[in-house]
Amino acid sequence: MAAETTQFVHVWLLPTLEAIAFTVACVAAAALIERLRPVQSGAGARLFNLAYAAVTAPLQLGARIAGVGAASIAARPMGGGLLHLPEHGAWVAVSALAYVAAMDFGEYLFHRAQHRSPMLWRMHSLHHSDDALNGSTTVRHFWLEPLLKSCTIYLAVALVIHVTPTLAAAFALAGLYNFVPHLNLRLGLGRWSWIVNSPQYHRLHHSALREHYDRNFASLLPIFDLLLGTYRAPGQGEYPPTGLGPDVAAPTLAWALLPLAGLPVRRSAWASGMTPAAEATA
Ligand SMILES: [Zn+2]
Ligand SMILES: [Zn+2]
Repeated sequence: MAAETTQFVHVWLLPTLEAIAFTVACVAAAALIERLRPVQSGAGARLFNLAYAAVTAPLQLGARIAGVGAASIAARPMGGGLLHLPEHGAWVAVSALAYVAAMDFGEYLFHRAQHRSPMLWRMHSLHHSDDALNGSTTVRHFWLEPLLKSCTIYLAVALVIHVTPTLAAAFALAGLYNFVPHLNLRLGLGRWSWIVNSPQYHRLHHSALREHYDRNFASLLPIFDLLLGTYRAPGQGEYPPTGLGPDVAAPTLAWALLPLAGLPVRRSAWASGMTPAAEATA
């Protein structure tokens, strides 16, 4: 086998197939859990979401860890991170938590920007266009998003905290939790919903109802929503319908690959210049 072919197989083909197999395994495990107490019946757009994830896998390959690595390298000429967190003994757990929390804050800010900027919303609305939220919605993100995060939030955190392979691995591991809040599952944390994201808490973020728009942006830690005024506690038994609304057609695969060409733009409180506080008094 020629050297180029060997390199293609080992650097791209096998890792891509592994990433696809891992995604399928996670979605299958999620589907099994969802059978316990589903909010909606049926498979939803599971096949569409998996097909989209497979088609864009070469572009999204190891996106989180590759993005963190790229940001770390880009930060080196600029000082390579002000803080060197300790990793000896039990400190490794403290440092990993601190790094994951810092990255989660970055994810929170980026997510708010996605709802505020019309350009970013056109990409992000692919994620919100799923009208049957389930584990597979986790991988329904526009393929360009990881790159945008690498040169914004990941780079910003890398300038503050020196990224090591251990910290990058902790963030990648924490990212797996993202499947949990997307589950089609009647599971909430009640008055503890500010501690960690849950299926009920995140369902409100995906809600098709106007009253829930632009709330609960947190990826992992809802404390950021609470501190920055975007927290909406789920009511008892509150599991609203999800998606962009009834007048928006289901996306095609081609549309999902190039959403800038005309994804539907949902009305957004942030895009119209209203903050949740102003909206509450309106
Ligand atoms: Zn969103
Ligand atoms: Zn989501």
